Amino acid sequence: MRLIRFRRKKENLRFWQEFKIVPRWLVWTVFALFLIAQSIALMVNLDGFRTGGDIFPPELRSDPVLASLALAGVVTLVSLFFAFFVFLAGYVNRDARRRGMSSGLWTFLVIVLFPAYFAIGFIIYFLMREPLPYNCPQCGSTVGARFNYCPNCKCNLHPSCPQCKREVVESDKYCPYCGQDLAAPPGTGAGAAAGTQTSSPQL
Ligand SMILES: [Zn+2]
Ligand SMILES: [Zn+2]
Repeated sequence: MRLIRFRRKKENLRFWQEFKIVPRWLVWTVFALFLIAQSIALMVNLDGFRTGGDIFPPELRSDPVLASLALAGVVTLVSLFFAFFVFLAGYVNRDARRRGMSSGLWTFLVIVLFPAYFAIGFIIYFLMREPLPYNCPQCGSTVGARFNYCPNCKCNLHPSCPQCKREVVESDKYCPYCGQDLAAPPGTGAGAAAGTQTSSPQL
């Protein structure tokens, strides 16, 4: 039953909007580390050309410019790979907090599992994370996804159809399962609605 609500109140998460919750300082730190890695790799390689030592890639010994570009490309790819997981860990930290989960524990878990099991910690997190809190339809205060009543105004957060008892959403005018008029109190306006319902299949 509870799943109905989660499905209908689908979390419309956009990538860039979600990326914005990754801490700014983390993004800048990763970017700075990337620039440092890039310049160290370039300097070591150019030093190899000067002194005749090892260079990357060895096939391009005759062309320092092309070799530098190839090295920069490899460093970028490796950096992107690690940056992706660092940002994902930052995202888990902030996302767990806004969902009322233990953010420290989840961040620790995904980082600890990374060296041995790679992305498994993230997969567990995304499978197990709690739904986002939302605003009470009556008073607007933030309510947890598992609340049955708003703690501020006692609004019923999981209203059900008076006729078939299945869960409906506040914005529904008619029950999506039996066609009951949800605006009318049970018994009064329901007769007309039920009458048109039963007569239509006969036509
Ligand atoms: Zn409320
Ligand atoms: Zn119903």
